[in-house]
Amino acid sequence: MALHYTTLPVTPFAQNCSLLWCEQTREAALVDAGGEHERLLAEVAARGLTLKMLLVTHAHIDHAGAVGQLAREQGLPVVGPHVGDQFWIDGLAKQSAMFGFPPAEPFVPTRWLEDGDTVQLGQEVLAVRHCPGHTPGHVVFHSASAQRCFVGDVLFVGSIGRTDFPGGNHEQLLSSIRERLWPMGDEVVFIPGHGPEGTLGHERRTNPFLSHSRWG
Ligand SMILES: [Zn+2]
Ligand SMILES: [Zn+2]
Repeated sequence: MALHYTTLPVTPFAQNCSLLWCEQTREAALVDAGGEHERLLAEVAARGLTLKMLLVTHAHIDHAGAVGQLAREQGLPVVGPHVGDQFWIDGLAKQSAMFGFPPAEPFVPTRWLEDGDTVQLGQEVLAVRHCPGHTPGHVVFHSASAQRCFVGDVLFVGSIGRTDFPGGNHEQLLSSIRERLWPMGDEVVFIPGHGPEGTLGHERRTNPFLSHSRWG
């Protein structure tokens, strides 16, 4: 595959920031630069990559905390999330204070994403699916060529995203997973915002939130 990636857990929440790159062009993107921006930039430099954009699945502090500073200092476009997360972006300073994170710089996405959009990275194309439920504006990035999907806090190995935050919706999250993740294929490896990678097929069969029909 020509899309490569490495995952770098950042922040006290061990959020999986993924560094993606096109092997042909060595152009790179960071998915969910939640913090520790110097470490992320060091990784980009160590691999000899050219950082082209900042992708955002959703605007929780552990996923978006370093996006504003990186965008400003590196002159990078911010791509995503969906406009439904505007209120979370507006609340980043408050989120920083609440969780004891370094103050997050505000940012304005260069490009809001919609379901069905695509993002070009070098010669690679990422397909965007809107997956509301954890947050209203949550998006995921799917590489069909690499059989990988970067899903933020939609799905975890053995679990799903929390829906008890403002704008969260449990049924909507289940629908997002069933209608927008499962059709990518059982063999697709998903990279969640926290914890280990897994395959969609394994979760479809065994995830307790999704695999069993519910009674009563
Ligand atoms: Zn989240
Ligand atoms: Zn998270």
